[in-house]
Amino acid sequence: MTNSARLNTNWNWVGRYVAVIVVSLILGAALGSMPLFAKTYLISSKLSAGQVVRFLGYSTALVAFWVLGQQLTAVLRKQAGRWAVLHNLILPVVTLIVVSAMYSVLLLVLMPMLDATLYKIYNWTFILAIIACAVWLIMAVLGQSDALTEAFIGAAGSSVVCPTCGVNNPADAAHCKQCGKSLQPE
Ligand SMILES: [Zn+2]
Repeated sequence: MTNSARLNTNWNWVGRYVAVIVVSLILGAALGSMPLFAKTYLISSKLSAGQVVRFLGYSTALVAFWVLGQQLTAVLRKQAGRWAVLHNLILPVVTLIVVSAMYSVLLLVLMPMLDATLYKIYNWTFILAIIACAVWLIMAVLGQSDALTEAFIGAAGSSVVCPTCGVNNPADAAHCKQCGKSLQPE
């Protein structure tokens, strides 16, 4: 099996998640706006079948997006290379997006049941949850800052070229591994 073929099979599952996300979003939006669903009411006269269908479609997409983030984290954790350092950042970013989007998606079905007080509590719950996700992301970035710097900025500076023979050496090397000449400026 060639390297590129193995990469393709490794990443096929990402396509499946993306397909579920896209189809859920399209079905939720398309069915939810159909007159049949939009004009048929459940429970109270405030909650339409269209709102419920949109809620189901959008929340399915969000759950699939979050599981995709979790799977990507697990895969990247096992890999070497410059993208591996991202694995600690994916889940905070994905969770922040999902929680922020879930605020509006849940309101589709909860709005008819919320009075002014409950609405305030609902808003504050999400404000705190979104702040918690943001703090989680900041902590993850701080925890990864050395590795991130290494991956994105330090890559060029992490080696030194021997002025005598042109071979790449580690940045902290005093002598060339190829010809043994000093790498320090005279
Ligand atoms: Zn050399």
